Amino acid sequence: MMAYNEEQFLMLSGLQHFVFCRRQWALIHIEQVWEDNVLTVEGNTLHEKADDPFVREKRGDTIYVRALPIHSYTLGINGICDMVEFTKTTKGITLANEDGQFAVKPIEYKRGAPKKHDADIAQLVAQVLCLEEMLQTTIDEAALYYHETRRREIVEITEEWRDKVTAMIKEMHQYYERKYTPRVKTGKHCKSCSLQHICLPELLNKESVLAYIDRMTRE
Ligand code: SF4
Repeated sequence: MMAYNEEQFLMLSGLQHFVFCRRQWALIHIEQVWEDNVLTVEGNTLHEKADDPFVREKRGDTIYVRALPIHSYTLGINGICDMVEFTKTTKGITLANEDGQFAVKPIEYKRGAPKKHDADIAQLVAQVLCLEEMLQTTIDEAALYYHETRRREIVEITEEWRDKVTAMIKEMHQYYERKYTPRVKTGKHCKSCSLQHICLPELLNKESVLAYIDRMTRE
């Protein structure tokens, strides 16, 4: 099986951009343009709290580790897990300085409410694939915690999701190697895109981007 080296690693968090819009991902990760909007600023503030490094807490049968660096040589990605829960079980992994065996469950914290698109799930599944490779274990479920609803949504890690995310990451590597930025394909998602002023500049002279998108999505 092909393995990537560390210089070839792509950011795992880019997967959410890639699912949202492949062009947005390429603008950020290949062309390195970035413009904060309200949504990304809120997201960063929330992550600053979750990314308090080296925090390890033990409550009952569970150990909580925050801001855990993760990677996969098979997929060629790396990133950080907001939180990973290690819960005592009869069949799982062993941990240094701890008795017994533990099941592994990543939890990703998200601003806002559950979304209509699958970006958050794809990112979580990629985290699972990294942890499985690093810890040599199998993870059946993970969770997304939404700030707005204050609810934890359990995500079942199906074969279908594993294949889908693996294929997407492969596609990301192909784009990256070719330095390929897909052309503009506007849709409703452009309304909440942080890069619309960079992506759609030629339209700004004629009408506002939002008016343009409204018109396009009505047609
Ligand atoms: S404005 Fe639309 S097409 Fe352009 S990067 Fe954003 S979501 Fe993609």
